[in-house]
Amino acid sequence: MPAARTGVFVCSCGPNIGDRIDIEKIVEEVSTIEGVVLAETHNLLCSPDGKKYLASKITENKLERVVIAACSPREHEVTFMRVCETAGLNPFMMQMANIREQVAWVTPDRKSATEKALRLVTGAINRTSRHKPLEKTSIVCNPKVAVIGGGVSGMSVALILADAERRTTIIERSSSLGGYLENEKLAEHLAERVAGCSEITVITGREPDEIVGFFGNFIINLGEDTDEIQAGSIVLATGCALDDSGKAVAPDEFREMTEMLRISADENGFPNREHDSLAPVSTPIDGVYVTGCAGGLCSLTEAVSQSEAVAGTILSSLIPGREVETEPRTSVISETLCRGCMTCMEVCGYGAISFDEERLVCTVNSVLCKGCGNCAGACPSGAIKAQHFTPDQIRYQLAGLLR
Ligand code: SF4
Ligand code: SF4
Repeated sequence: MPAARTGVFVCSCGPNIGDRIDIEKIVEEVSTIEGVVLAETHNLLCSPDGKKYLASKITENKLERVVIAACSPREHEVTFMRVCETAGLNPFMMQMANIREQVAWVTPDRKSATEKALRLVTGAINRTSRHKPLEKTSIVCNPKVAVIGGGVSGMSVALILADAERRTTIIERSSSLGGYLENEKLAEHLAERVAGCSEITVITGREPDEIVGFFGNFIINLGEDTDEIQAGSIVLATGCALDDSGKAVAPDEFREMTEMLRISADENGFPNREHDSLAPVSTPIDGVYVTGCAGGLCSLTEAVSQSEAVAGTILSSLIPGREVETEPRTSVISETLCRGCMTCMEVCGYGAISFDEERLVCTVNSVLCKGCGNCAGACPSGAIKAQHFTPDQIRYQLAGLLR
């Protein structure tokens, strides 16, 4: 099979790369690699002109693979993937080589920096020869929200959402709203507002029996004689308890619920956050949020501001009628190789893997999978393939690096 038509674009990044690496030499060297039909430099590929230039080169030269030697993929991988898409090339046929942060900014000697950059670019070219197109899928979201816990935090979330005409169901295990009251008057006031709000449904004396699904499509089963509740997002707004030493701990029923949702928890049973400072009310499971004492001991003021943050996050992400794109770089499990040990389920922080009781193997829910690759590394049978990070792709990249 002839080598895929590959274009290599080396960005000067103004003076950032161009002053420290001989980019003309890189272009000259990689031009001789089989399949490379085009190798050029550009002063600023991420600029509007640069993106236009890149898209036109892809279409004019009928490129099947693109390698961009520039900055960190964390900065512009999405930018260049979009350019590929607009030019009609599957974005997963593109690979970046980071010659700025990994070379220009850390390797002072120009000759060594050029040699190092050349190796990275060659590795990227080799890798793209093993790339496969991956397709994005999307799901239609249910815009309703389920709030578990009818204290001040839960009611605050529901009321803010109701103001934005978003339907919410509050599920409270006790017989009335209010929770553990630090401020009885505030709780009573909120409960009155909730009672008069047509957007909010309150179910008391119930707690989730089973929760399944994923962002945009959760189903909460409350037991035999109650209809299931469908929601796009779930807010955990229950209280915490104090142990014998006065330390705040998550109650057993709350721990069961986080287990149902497969949310990893800290040593006191409180859900871990997606990011302590950047996403403090989001859990590692998309669409599941935490507010108030469901996340640990906090003051009333903190609880209310967390509820505002939760409501704001939901309103900006769970938009009615919107389809949510899923991550195409997911892991897949070979049914033939899987021996059902469930090691992968233990290491998946996103609850994306389940055990098929009939076939006695594990399967990945591609909507929940974030493509972190943890499961692929942990599987003792080598049954899991992390798409876009296959052993073959990594081997080819290394071969280019170590040439
Ligand atoms: S770790 Fe591997 S062998 Fe074990 S259940 Fe998961 S996929 Fe199957
Ligand atoms: S790649 Fe990560 S998120 Fe996806 S199933 Fe494996 S461990 Fe879970």
